[in-house]
This record gives sequence, structure tokens and C-alpha cells, in this order.
Amino acid sequence: MESKIWLSSPHMSGKEQSYINNAFETNWIAPLGPNVNGFEADIQDYLKEDSHVAALSSGTAAIHLGLILLDVGHGDEVICQSKTFSASANPIVYQGATPIFVDSERDTWNICPEQLEIAIKDRIQKGKKPKAIVAVHLYGMPYKVSEIHKVAKRYDIPVLEDSAEALGSTYNNIKCGTFGDISVLSFNGNKIITTSGGGAIVTKNIKLKEKAVFLATQARDKAVEYLHSSIGFNYRLSNVLAGIGRGQMEVLDDRVAARRQNYQHYKDSFQGIEELQFVDEPHGSFSNRWLSCLLTPSKAIREELRLELNTYNIETRPLWKPMHQQPIFKDAPRYLNGVSDDLFEKGLCLPSGSNLTENEINRVTSAIKTYFRA
Ligand SMILES: *Cc1c(COP(=O)(O)O)cnc(C)c1O
Repeated sequence: MESKIWLSSPHMSGKEQSYINNAFETNWIAPLGPNVNGFEADIQDYLKEDSHVAALSSGTAAIHLGLILLDVGHGDEVICQSKTFSASANPIVYQGATPIFVDSERDTWNICPEQLEIAIKDRIQKGKKPKAIVAVHLYGMPYKVSEIHKVAKRYDIPVLEDSAEALGSTYNNIKCGTFGDISVLSFNGNKIITTSGGGAIVTKNIKLKEKAVFLATQARDKAVEYLHSSIGFNYRLSNVLAGIGRGQMEVLDDRVAARRQNYQHYKDSFQGIEELQFVDEPHGSFSNRWLSCLLTPSKAIREELRLELNTYNIETRPLWKPMHQQPIFKDAPRYLNGVSDDLFEKGLCLPSGSNLTENEINRVTSAIKTYFRA
């Protein structure tokens, strides 16, 4: 059997080790320290737009703290893009709030502005204005930022921008991760850069960042004794792992270029296969192409292709199963137009790592061409 080709595996630059060594040499083996501060500064320099970054233990923790900063609490309703990974929605439930799922549009596969407005109007009419909107840049493709934020503004509802998959993407030349009232990044092992596990919350002012750090370090009041007047969490990032992040930030732009090249390679290779469709970047959008995805004609073909690729030891994955289809969310209100269900049936994520070799990507394209007899 030929070697396994993974969907998206960690890709170290070699620059990480010196930051990790520094943590060991200085004994900063703690969830704070110079690498944490340095990593936060690196991300701030990268994002610009006056962003204030707190490094956390995961993207999920960042979403959780973000909802708390937006004052989401028991009995509230929070609108969430249905087509996403479950980590976008779970923290809504941690807060005792109810997720309200909204479907996607075709151009970016992300939350649909029309469905969003329908949902907001209906929730208000039913007696509760949603407390926040969780919008996601799926697979690195920016959601329709202008349209979504216009609707949010019209009803004065804050946006939590889930940019876990979109570090390095831009919309009208502004970096994703800076659009939300609160924004979130992830450095999980499969993301475009990684700290093995980690995340960050991005806020628009220093006070909110300080509040996030306070909550993430057990909410210890400023006092000599251990004094607590709110419930805290243990959500800060380790100084050792932040060292990996510092090394990864040095090569982020290369990683984006490599992933975009994968996408272009697939697109060019499958030009002659009429059955396959790709989603192009709408005008003004620049995707990091975290994962290269394509649409097949049907669920049956998608499944057959996935299993066929599996026999070549090539890992692929259906697109995220929409949250409104998940057993755990079966009772959650939803506003649907059929788009995310259709994408889920037909879509497949292809191996997309920035460390794919030419030989590996050629194995993938020739296996797919063989399947379609192209
Ligand atoms: C990965 C991911 C998260 C969660 O990030 P973790 O660091 O794995 O907790 C949240 N939302 C989306 C869309 C993701 O892909």
C-alpha cells in the first residue's frame, strides 16, 4: 500500500524549536510568559486594524469567552451559521443559550444574508431578539462580510466572527479575524498554522482583551489573597505551545500560498471533468484555501469517490454536516433554504496540506481522473 495522504497535517517550519528551547532554558513552562506575549504581538502585527489578541488554549475556548464578553447568558438566543464545525455552536449551549441555525448561500457556502434577516425578524416577532450572530469563514472563504454586518447593524446585534479556518484570508484587503465585534482564531493541529492545540480571541479594544485574559486565568481579582467575584476558566495558552506559534507565524504567508496552489492545481487538473464544480472567490474575497473542496453531482457519487480514494490510501472528507442535521441539535430552531443540505450531499474536501509533495498531489489528481475516466 502506498503511504497515507492526509487531509491536512501539521507543517513545521523548523523555526519553532528555538522558541521552545527558550521556554525550557528560561523555565517559562507555564500558561504565560514571553512566548505568549510575543505570539500575541505577532498576530496583532499580522492582523492590524487595531486588533487586541489574547492567546487561549483552543478556538472553542475563544468562542466561549467571546459569547461571555457579548453578554450571552441563560435563556438567550444566538444565531449560528448551520454549515460549520460543531465548535461554532457548542459554546452557545455552554452558556445556557439556544442556538438558532441559519442556512448558507451558494457563492461562499457561508451564512445567507436573506435567511439571516428572515430569522432575526421571526425571532423578534416570537418575543426575543437574538443576542449575537456567529458567522463563519468556512474552509477559509470569507462570508459576505458587508451584507451580513449590514443586517446585524440594522438590528443592532453583535457579530462573533469565527475565523478559525480563515487566518490569512482577506475581504476587501482587510484580514479575516478583524471583522467581528469579537473574532476567533484556532491553532488546532489541522489548521493553516498550528500550536498543536490553541486558539485566540481578537477584540477591538484593550479593555475587552484584558477581560478575556482575566476570565481565562480563573477570574482572579486584583488582591493578595485568592479573591473571586466572577466564575473563571483555565483557558490560557501554554508558553511552550506559544513558541510553536511564533515559529509558525514566520511562515504563515508561505502556508497560504501553498494551500492556494493546491486548490489551483486541482482546479486546473479537473478542467475537463464536467461533473466537478469548484467555488470561486467572489470579487473582493481572498481565501487561504485552508481546505480544497469540490462538488460532485450527487451523494452517491461523492460517497463512491470517497471510498475509491480511500483504497488508494488518500484521506478525504465530506463537507461539514450542517448543525441543523445533528442529533444533539434536533430541537433547535432553524431557518433553511436547502443550500447547506445540498452542499453536504455533494461536497468533498481533498487533501490540502501545505506540506503535500508534488508526487502526493499527483496521486490524488490521477486517482480522481481515473474515477471519472478523464
Ligand atoms: C477548528 C474550528 C473551531 C474550533 O477550534 P479548536 O481550536 O479546535 O477548538 C471552531 N470553529 C471552526 C469553524 C473550526 O474549524
